[in-house]
Amino acid sequence: MVCEHPSGNEYADWLTEQVRQHGLRAACPVRVRSVTREDPFLKLDTDKGEYRCRALVWAAGEFFFPQRQQFQGAEQTLHYAEVKSWTQCEGDHLVVLGGAESGIDAACHLIGLGKTVTVLDRGGAWIKEQGDPSLVLSPHTRSRFRAAQATGRLQLEPGVSVVRVENQGDEYSIHGQDGQTFHCDGPPISCIGFEGGASQIESLWEWKNGQVQLTPNDESTLTPGLFLAGPQVRHPGEIFCFIYKFRTRFPLVADAITQHLTTTPHSYAHP
Ligand SMILES: Cc1cc2nc3c(=O)[nH]c(=O)nc-3n(C[C@H](O)[C@H](O)[C@H](O)COP(=O)(O)OP(=O)(O)OC[C@H]3O[C@@H](n4cnc5c(N)ncnc54)[C@H](O)[C@@H]3O)c2cc1C
Repeated sequence: MVCEHPSGNEYADWLTEQVRQHGLRAACPVRVRSVTREDPFLKLDTDKGEYRCRALVWAAGEFFFPQRQQFQGAEQTLHYAEVKSWTQCEGDHLVVLGGAESGIDAACHLIGLGKTVTVLDRGGAWIKEQGDPSLVLSPHTRSRFRAAQATGRLQLEPGVSVVRVENQGDEYSIHGQDGQTFHCDGPPISCIGFEGGASQIESLWEWKNGQVQLTPNDESTLTPGLFLAGPQVRHPGEIFCFIYKFRTRFPLVADAITQHLTTTPHSYAHP
């Protein structure tokens, strides 16, 4: 794959080719319903039967696991992950909650469709231009953001903490904690983040401030043989939320799995 921003189909083709080239045994679709510890094994209950393994890499991503809003009327909002196509967003003036990567991406798509957009954010995530790429807009999003600003249809409201959303017919009112009120004529788009797929097997990880706790080799501090890979991997002062960042962890995980397999009994079963 030679382009920097492949489409979903192009990326899927590339992954399929990787599976073929490396002779991987990939089974799809298989939905993992639960994982339980049966030391020294991990037992996976799936919709295609039971798997048992001595090492499991949990790479369930984050996109499919949206962060849910807690405020009154939150059910009136549409999460970024629920938007199938931006063309389906109703209304001419829309409000986006959250102004980080996904919020600005949403705003750019909507501006591109000729809409007027107001972005509300607690701090003003778009403001900082330099720093850890995990905490500032990516260069690609930053340049689209500048083009969206140039249309004059993008309004940015930093310092707004949303406490309530109300809906009357086609009208939505969004209320901030300092009494600010904003209006739009389609469901507000919620871009407050992603909970992440590790929560599907919540009890197998140790959690601190909403973050999975890992050994220096990305193994669960609670469950030997369970590893986390992907954008949810964090260590003190380091966020591995991009592919180019979290792939640097793979050799460590591979080494740790090798160590783990040489120190636990052999047996392997799959459907
Ligand atoms: C809005 C957004 C924008 C992003 N932009 C970028 C970017 O520009 N660059 C970048 O590097 N990263 C970006 N990221 C981070 C991005 O999530 C990852 O880099 C990349 O997609 C992670 O790959 P992954 O394989 O770990 O997870 P995913 O691509 O999310 O794949 C996870 C897979 O696990 C499967 N799965 C989940 N649960 C189960 C289960 N119980 N049973 C079976 N299968 C399951 C899912 O079906 C899915 O196929 C972005 C993330 C978000 C949310």
